[in-house]
Amino acid sequence: MSILVKNVTKTFGNFTALDNVSLEVPDGSLLALLGPSGSGKTTLLRIIAGLEVADSGTVLHREEDITHQSARDRKVGFVFQHYALFRHMTVAQNIGYGLRVRQAPKAKIRARVEELLKLIRLEGLEARYPGQLSGGQRQRVALARALAAQPRVLLLDEPFGALDANVRRELRQWLRNLHNTLQMTSLFVTHDQEEALEVADRVVVMNEGRIEQVGTPNEVYHNPASPFVHHFLGNVNLFHCRVEEGMAYIGNTPVQLPAHVSRDAKTTRVYIRPHLFEIEKTPDGNKSLHGTIKHLNPAGPVVKLEVTSDWGDTINVEIPNERYRALQLQKGDEVYVRPKEMKFFSDDYSI
Ligand code: ATP
Repeated sequence: MSILVKNVTKTFGNFTALDNVSLEVPDGSLLALLGPSGSGKTTLLRIIAGLEVADSGTVLHREEDITHQSARDRKVGFVFQHYALFRHMTVAQNIGYGLRVRQAPKAKIRARVEELLKLIRLEGLEARYPGQLSGGQRQRVALARALAAQPRVLLLDEPFGALDANVRRELRQWLRNLHNTLQMTSLFVTHDQEEALEVADRVVVMNEGRIEQVGTPNEVYHNPASPFVHHFLGNVNLFHCRVEEGMAYIGNTPVQLPAHVSRDAKTTRVYIRPHLFEIEKTPDGNKSLHGTIKHLNPAGPVVKLEVTSDWGDTINVEIPNERYRALQLQKGDEVYVRPKEMKFFSDDYSI
């Protein structure tokens, strides 16, 4: 285990930013701290970096207690959202800065800067100033600067937050590939679900100063541990159901209750992702939900439908273009949608 955070609590005045948080970061992993604004991601990252002091709890690095170590002694590389490059220094001087401060020999600095320029694919631009670079290039320089002194851990706080969508996408893939090459334990903060699911090999979903779930992108997306995670990771329909004799009723449509929902429950909540419906124009026994198309939007890789159900809830459905064309669907059509996959949560969860 590279980093172990144990029972960390942090308050600002009477506001609890982190509430008894524990986290294991395996050696060589690329971990995303994902959550809405104010959920405590940056505070956790800063405590791991040594830039913030926890009220209680400990931080270990490879079994060594670093809770009270200074940021400098922890040997972490840090990349912030805003490039924070030195404007009056060239690219090469920026990258070599940390080594110069440590009074490394000039030849060693030169060799390391050359190596890093190659890694960030900016060879030939070493004499430029930050003002002469694009946003994406500047962020790559910031990363090279963080890597120069060979940190034990790399921490990135919304590293692509200030970049436009296309550059962001390109840099995500680049960071993923870079991590595959370096295999350095890295944590990055993001509030962008797609970014976390695409780049990280482990995702930590945070909410109101607590960790809701830790898992691979596949686990957190397909097996969300709480309604919050379900909502936060992509669009989802939520239906409140009544429970009778082992069946849950979505409107008047009965569906089998899974074993983990108590037979004594009176109500439950079911979550269904929009793309996990089959759609027909004719009923399919009593397994489908019936409704009328209120709105449809065929512009995009999938066709998005808003269906007003018999019991008044809107059902958001996404279907492939071919299915839309085959059924020749139009606004006002009656349709039957059958859930292919559902997730149930008892009503004692709070979102
Ligand atoms: P964002 O995505 O907006 O950066 P975050 O999940 O990273 O959010 P934090 O920056 O960790 O959230 O902040 C968590 C909470 O703690 C927020 O409500 C914030 O206002 C509060 N907070 C953070 N730092 C301080 C501080 N120095 N003083 C007072 N409150 C703070």
